[in-house]
Amino acid sequence: MPNCDLLIIGSGPAAWSCALTARQRDLSVVVAAAQSATGWLQKAERIDNYPGMPAVSGKEMLRIFRQQAVDAGAQIMDSLARQVQPLGDIYMTLCGNDIIESRAVVLAMGAARPKLLPGEDELIGQGVSWCGTCDGMFYRGKDVAVLSAWHGGIEEAEFLSRLCAKVDYYSMVKHDLPAEHPFTLHEGKPLELIRENGKITVKTESSADAYDGVFIFRPAVSPDSLLPGLALDGAFIPVDRRMATNLPRVYAAGDCTGAPLQIAKAVGEGNIAAISAAEDLR
Ligand SMILES: Cc1cc2nc3c(=O)[nH]c(=O)nc-3n(C[C@H](O)[C@H](O)[C@H](O)COP(=O)(O)OP(=O)(O)OC[C@H]3O[C@@H](n4cnc5c(N)ncnc54)[C@H](O)[C@@H]3O)c2cc1C
Repeated sequence: MPNCDLLIIGSGPAAWSCALTARQRDLSVVVAAAQSATGWLQKAERIDNYPGMPAVSGKEMLRIFRQQAVDAGAQIMDSLARQVQPLGDIYMTLCGNDIIESRAVVLAMGAARPKLLPGEDELIGQGVSWCGTCDGMFYRGKDVAVLSAWHGGIEEAEFLSRLCAKVDYYSMVKHDLPAEHPFTLHEGKPLELIRENGKITVKTESSADAYDGVFIFRPAVSPDSLLPGLALDGAFIPVDRRMATNLPRVYAAGDCTGAPLQIAKAVGEGNIAAISAAEDLR
């Protein structure tokens, strides 16, 4: 279990800027940097309004930012942060299948928000789960469905296949699958979840199959399900001028705090969040 002063969740300009400054303030830093398709900047062919890097592609900019943070001593975990829980004075974060213990947390997840299926929100914790590690044991010997929007669902489905009697795998968004796998592929695209007779039915255009449990995996987590109790203003996280949220030693930076959605603003907010965390931890 890696322990650190500061856990930064995200892998865009806000996160890398925050990591760099936090290291310069001598904090130990872990960055939870999901390798996923939700990183907006990856898609930018050419950026012309960031000082010092004329006509750079988004990919190249991110490579430089990341390398600079790594060179400064930030530790990277290439996985999705799935849940943050306060425990006394520390925060415990489930990151991939690891738990990271930190004294402070910076949220720098960008503005991408997962779109939930009809029925999903109401059924979370009642047969529907976003975490195989947390809830898999409840379905030992039972039939489950895995609904996945990215390659990260494959490892989860493999894990669940070792516990459950049957695992059906639905691709919500097209992604590569290994030639050999221990689960059954379901061709339909999930449209809705319904609870009936103690089971969860996954409806597609042409099928309706019932399961004891349904696990859903996406490359992003909405801020309020990531960190219960976090105040939101619509889709964004309200912060003060120190980038502090409503929770103690939790800061937010970048697109997730709202407009303008710009690289320079994300970098500036990441820098402020790191300085605030360093002051508060001193
Ligand atoms: C096509 C395009 C062109 C653009 N061009 C420009 C431009 O020219 N100039 C400009 O200033 N801005 C531009 N922007 C906007 C700019 O990309 C964003 O403002 C900027 O990237 C925001 O940085 P960020 O760090 O807040 O978030 P992001 O860059 O969105 O990074 C957030 C990262 O965190 C990761 N993440 C999310 N949730 C988790 C989690 N739970 N655990 C771990 N990781 C997670 C995501 O996968 C993502 O990679 C452009 C955007 C697009 C889409």
